[in-house]
Parts: sequence; C-alpha cells; structure tokens
Amino acid sequence: MRTSSKVRAPHLAAAVPEAPRPTLDLDTAGDTPILREYRVVKAANPDAIVLARLGDFFEMFGDDAVAAAPILGVTLTSRGFGAAGRLPMCGVPHQAVVQHIRKLLDAGRRVAMWDQVGEVVAGKLVRREVTRVLSPGMVVEAELLDAAAVSRCVALIAVRGRVGIAAFDPNTQYMELVEIPGELSDPAVADEVVRLDPTELLVEEGGDLPSTLVGRAPTTTLPSAVFDAGRAEDRVRRATGAVALAGLGIDTVPIAVRAAGAVLAYCERARIVISAELLRFGVRGADSAMRLDAHTRENLEMFTRLGGSGASLLQVLDATRTPMGLRLLRARLNEPLIDAGRISRRLASVDALLTERDVRRRLRDALGGMRDLERLVARCVQGLATPRDLGAIRDTCAALDATSLAARGLPAGTDVAGCADACHAPAGLQERLDGLLAEDLPAQASDGGAVREGADPDLDNLRAAGSTARAYLATLETAERERTGIRSLRVGYNRVFGYYIEIPNAQRDRVPDGYSRKQTLAGAERYVTPDLKEHEAIVLHARERAIAREEELLAGAAAEVAAAARSLADASAAVAALDVAQSLATIAEEQHWVRPAIDTSSTLRIVGGRHPLVERTLGPGRFVPNDLTLDDDARIVVLTGPNMAGKSTYLRQTASIVLLAQIGSYVPAQEATISVCDRIFTRIGAHDDLSGGLSTFMVEMAETAAILRQATGQSLVILDEIGRGTSTYDGVSIAQAVVEHIHDAPQLNCRTLFATHFHELTVLASHLPRVRNARVEVVEEGSDITFLHRIVPGGADRSYGVHVAKLAGIPGGVLIRARQLLAEQERNRPLTGGAEPATDQLVLSIADPEPHPVVSELAALDLDGMTPIAALNKLAELREQAAR
Ligand code: ADP
Repeated sequence: MRTSSKVRAPHLAAAVPEAPRPTLDLDTAGDTPILREYRVVKAANPDAIVLARLGDFFEMFGDDAVAAAPILGVTLTSRGFGAAGRLPMCGVPHQAVVQHIRKLLDAGRRVAMWDQVGEVVAGKLVRREVTRVLSPGMVVEAELLDAAAVSRCVALIAVRGRVGIAAFDPNTQYMELVEIPGELSDPAVADEVVRLDPTELLVEEGGDLPSTLVGRAPTTTLPSAVFDAGRAEDRVRRATGAVALAGLGIDTVPIAVRAAGAVLAYCERARIVISAELLRFGVRGADSAMRLDAHTRENLEMFTRLGGSGASLLQVLDATRTPMGLRLLRARLNEPLIDAGRISRRLASVDALLTERDVRRRLRDALGGMRDLERLVARCVQGLATPRDLGAIRDTCAALDATSLAARGLPAGTDVAGCADACHAPAGLQERLDGLLAEDLPAQASDGGAVREGADPDLDNLRAAGSTARAYLATLETAERERTGIRSLRVGYNRVFGYYIEIPNAQRDRVPDGYSRKQTLAGAERYVTPDLKEHEAIVLHARERAIAREEELLAGAAAEVAAAARSLADASAAVAALDVAQSLATIAEEQHWVRPAIDTSSTLRIVGGRHPLVERTLGPGRFVPNDLTLDDDARIVVLTGPNMAGKSTYLRQTASIVLLAQIGSYVPAQEATISVCDRIFTRIGAHDDLSGGLSTFMVEMAETAAILRQATGQSLVILDEIGRGTSTYDGVSIAQAVVEHIHDAPQLNCRTLFATHFHELTVLASHLPRVRNARVEVVEEGSDITFLHRIVPGGADRSYGVHVAKLAGIPGGVLIRARQLLAEQERNRPLTGGAEPATDQLVLSIADPEPHPVVSELAALDLDGMTPIAALNKLAELREQAAR
C-alpha cells in the first residue's frame, strides 16, 4: 500500500476537528438511536471516513458515503433514518473490509473503524466503539502491510533554528530521534526525511510544509498543542514509565522529543497500543550515515529501476529468507555507513558466511522456517493476533533454535557474532503454545477449534457437554423413525431455525403428538419438540461458552507473547542481521563479487568494475569490465565519448560500487579499494520538473549548484552531461567552470567523474594538474562504428552523433544530409579541435586570460594612501579608459 503512491502523496485531511458536515448536522432531534451515536463518532472523527459495523456490513453515511463509493467501486444508495430523513449510504461486507480499507488509504483517506464490541442481543442497540483510526503511517494490520517495507510515521517541528524529527514504526515501536540545526526547508532536512522513508508525515498546524517535502508522503497536520514540550515529555514518560528523559538518553534532543510527543499523541488517536516493553528510543547524530539526496537514490536505482522495468539494486542484493531480513537489507541500503570500522565488521560477516558454506546452507534452511516474527509480536501487542498468528509464533520458536544452532558455527569478531545468543524464544513459550494450540488452526478464534483437546479441563468439559447433546441429536433421527414408523423422517439444522425434524407432506397425518410446526416447505413440514429444543440449547450454549473459553486462552497466550516482546524483538533483530549477511554472501558468490578494502585515505581504485544492474540485464559475459583510479594526484576524470558508448553506465557503476561497499556488501569488481565517502552526489540525465514548472536546464543547474555548495573533500561527485540542456557554447562554458571550481576550491577538490560529449573539455587536463582524461573506445570501420564500452586513458576527438543516429535507425537520406551539414559547420567554425583552444567568440580561455589594463590598474591601487578626492579622480579616469 505504499511507495508507488508516494509521488502523488496527498495531504490527508487535517486531523484537527473542523466544522460539521452539512448533511449530518448536529440537530439530533428525531434521530434514530444509531444515527445519534453515529453523529457523535463522526463529530470526533471529522477528517476520517467512518466505517460503521451494522451486522455483516460496514456502512458509510452522508458525505463519507458520497466520497467513498467511487473509490471503493460500490453503489451509492440511501437509507431512511426516521424523522432525520434519508441519508446517502454505501457499504461493504465485513469479510472484505480489509481490501476496502486499503483502497481508501491508497486514495489518501483516513479510516475510522466503528465496530461492534458488545454482544448482539435482539432488540437492543449493540455496543460499538472506534477500535482503530487507520492512516498510512499507522498500520499494524497484517493484510495492509507490505512485507518488504515499513509503515512509518515521521513528525517534524522547527523551533528557534533547530529541526526536531521523530520517526516511529508502530509495529516495532522504535522511535528514532534526530535533531539538526536549521529550518524545515534546508536540504539536510529533506535528505533526512527521504532516508527515513516515511509513509506519513506529521506537521504542526499552521506551519507550511517546505516544497522539498511536499509530495514525499501523505501529510497530516496536528494541533500545535501536541508538539508542546511539557506535554511531549509527559507522554514520553508515561509511555516508557521512565522518571526522567535523561534515563532514556534523549534529554539532549529536546526539539525531537517534542516531535516524539506528537507521534505518541497521534498513536493514541489511532488506537495503537504503545507497549512499554517494546517501545525504544534511539538518538541519531545527523552525520552518522552517508547522506544521499533523493535524486541520487533514484539515479542509483536503489529501490526502483529508472524507466520502470528491470531489477533494482535492492532486488539484486536480495537473497534473504525472512521478511525481517528483507526489511533490514532495505534499511541498510537506505543508510550506508561512513565508519570504516563498522563497514569492515559487516564485511567480515559476509566473508565468514561466504567461506563457511556449510554454515550458510544450514542457516538458510533454518531461516526458511521462520515467519514474520517482528510483526507477529506486534499483533500480539496490539491484541490483533489470530490463532494462526500464534501458530506461526510456535513454529518460529523452533526455527529460532535451529537458526541459533547454525549461527554458532560463525567465527568471533564479525558483527553477527552475538546473534546466535539472541536467537532464542522465551523459556517454555514453544512448549506452552504447543500444548495449547491444535494442529489445524482456524482463521479466527470465533470459529472455534483453535485449542487442542486436553489443553484446558474447563474447555474439555464444555466440549463434552456439547458433544453428549450432539450425539443425542445424531441418534434422534433413527430413534424417531422407529418410534413414528416414518422412514423418510429427517433431523436437520439450519442457521435461522436451528435443529428441526422434517416430515414429507405425504406422511403428515402420522406426525405424533408433541411435534410443533416450525416451518412449511413446498413438499414437507419442519417440526420441533421440547426435547429437541433442550438439547439444541445445550449444544449451542456449550459451543458459545467453549468459544469464549478458547478466546480467553488464546488471549492469555498472546499476552504472554506481548510480555516477552522485548526479547522476541531482539531475536527478530538478530535473525534479520544473520539473514542480511547470508543474503550478501549468497549474492557475492553467485555474482562473483569481491570484498572491497575499506580505508580512510582518499583513494578510489577499482579493477574490473561492473554495473550490477546493467550486467544482469545484459546476461553473463556480455558486460565489459572497466578500471578506475581516483587518488590525491588524480581527483577528477573527464570522460568523453559518443552518446550510447557507456559513459553513464561507467559513472553509475562507480557510485553503485561505493554505495554497496559502504553498506557492507561485496562489490561487482575484480578488486576494489574504497576510502569512505561522506556523500555521493549524482547529477545524471536530463529530466524536467514539470510539476515544479522548471525547465530541464534549470533543474540541471539547481542540482549542480546544490552539489557545489554541499560537497566536501570526502565526497564522490558524479556529473553526467552537465550543460546539455542549453546551447553548445553555454554548455561547454558552464561545464568547464564547474570542473575548474571543483578542482580549485579547497573545500571541494573531491573525487569527481565528469562525463561529457563535449570533447572540447579534454583540454582541461592539460592545465588542471589533478584532472585526467578518459574516453570510451570506439572502433571505426568506414562509416560504421562499434562501441567497445572500454574506458581507456585520453580524450575523444569527435562526438559521432551522426553514427549514433544511424544506429538508432534514422533514415539514410537524413543521415547523408546531416553529414554534409556537419562537414560545413566544421569548416566554418572549428569548434572541434581536441586540444586546440576554441574560437575567439568563445569565452573559454584555458590559460588565464590577459586581464584588461583597467583591472590591472584597479588591483594595484593603494586605497589606504589616497584621499577621497584622489580616489574619485582615479575612478573617473578608469571609467573613461573602460569606455574606450
Ligand atoms: P552514454 O552515457 O555514453 O550515452 P550509456 O552508459 O547509457 O551510454 O550506455 C549505453 C548502453 O551501452 C547501455 O544501455 C548498455 O546496454 C551498453 N553498455 C554500457 N556500458 C557497457 C559495458 N561496460 N559493457 C557492455 N555494455 C555496456
């Protein structure tokens, strides 16, 4: 239910009460009782679609019905409510409610479930309560969650030059706090929010969401009061049972705590149970992981392939066996490390599992028996666990033991070394669940039969009472046939009338005394007897009480799991870490990746590097590996070559290899030495920001400007075809100025790959000492060219655009004409010239230009030694010279 809808993320209707709707005003005179109650619920949830349980249906009324019917694809009808008249109405069967909730959430709606909680007694209004208020960031229901992604709500608030962020997953109940200096509109905040991957954003009422965050996720505004510092602290203390925030280690981030307060308040409204057992806070330094902006994440195709088809980086890395492992892999990809030590420890785990193939095989087998423990525990905490969920926990306990056993074979010193110990269920839990649960479990506790025989004496007694009566009913047919002599007499059961004795009309006159008629059919009559009724009551009552007892026993088991939530959550985390390590080892082996050497120098050396996604698309043996060295002597590579030669692939593969290395994965290369990058910046391809009304060129320049402002000496910068969005001269000039700036600015001088089809830029290498030229090799045979995709030192001297046009299938006549025009242009305006400086009109001086004499004179002036009058005279003189 997530991600795909993110781009068009709607603003969820405000979560603060608004004026009541016109079709449901609060004049309750003449309302039916149910409508009166409904109005109260609706007034408390004006921003949600209220789903009201009426018997077997969930119904919507008034404006809610009008809004929901088209989203759900159901018919809009109306219903009379006594004197209140008719109201628009639509409904969905309760068994199918989940899929309809999903549709409403996907459409950006909030949903309040007003469910029946009391017993249904004929003639009395059943008790109803709002049991859940669902929104995209507040989902714990198994059927609504994507196994690969999390539901995460992120609250933001800016106070006096600091931004506090709290991110919360209601399933794991991990609350991550971040505090950064600045404003909501700062790029650092946007990058942080993208990293946190929210399914819902919470902001303060009246505070404008900056454009960088608009559309990131459905957004809910909350009253300022819930962000209040005092209230937030109270909420945190109440939720955790802690006396002081210092004890939680969160007293250093007071603004983020305010955001956390808002999240907890929102959980209350959503009816999410906060478990003191499970809830954990973590404070994160803003620079504890590699910062990646949204463009770079997209360009590196981390989660979705650009252009739609093909595997994403996550898919290529995924050989996980558990949903927890997959989610952790996604989280790791989302935040590569910048600490060489931590990266190396992760790599050591992969190394260990790669070498110990037998351990890996046993681990994979054990993990295969594991269910989504993390979310099963969450459902026990929320009181939503079904008998099958408990059964899954029982099975997972066994898988935990097997996993722990397999993991014991791992050497010390890796980051998964402690996992074997953490992988265990609370003592006796498996045995207790085994003793309680039947082999075949029903979907719902109310179906009965979830608890095994012998598990509970009370339940056994109730079942026995029921079965004696059932046995009597089973023998009744034969007994009555004998007694009455009616051979066609039948004992049956239906839901409306209960047990009955059916006698065909032909035998009607032989019906004995004591039979009272209950129902008339076409060819038969149905009767009941006092005896039959009595036994029926025993059966039904026993069944009802047995189910109630079963529900009680199951709730007890779920509560036991919930009480052990912390240790089970730790076990889930250990399982996830083991699963990610084995997944990366499995992929490294399958794809022939190598362990990168990680250091903190400033070298980037890759031998035989490949692009993980392009290689996979092309198939085995078809990708041409390439080398790269960037170090203190060679900081910038200017890569020239015709379009379609493989420049972009080379750039992206470099960034992908660095990214993979820093999440602690092996990399697609023969050999790699990677000194940790603090950030990766990519400016790739031309794309319009149509929604923002910006031209391709504007987008390109804005992204480039952001890179030049934010990059540091430890960053990796990938610039593909800068200046493409404007005229050639403009483009070349801007591209050159950008390279010069990166090279010369002391705070930059960062490792940079610069691809361009402007071969004029190859001259930069001759006067900037740390720039190297490289080109993609091309073989020419007559008018045909072949791209070898091999990167070699040196610059290209032409762009082969016409050749590429031919490859793309442009008709022959057009190609001939294009060649003529090109030849003419090259004669008239020799812009192409490889190492030759360009034409006069081009402000492309490679050596520093001779300064204008006025500038030289200005620079030489001794202002301190001049009177104001002398200065004014000098100014007039210079102006005259300049005007000449
Ligand atoms: P450019 O950026 O120079 O226009 P691309 O990097 O987009 O070119 O590459 C064009 C196509 O060439 C890719 O889609 C891919 O199929 C192929 N290609 C690129 N690099 C390689 C390589 N190293 N080995 C094999 N094929 C490659």
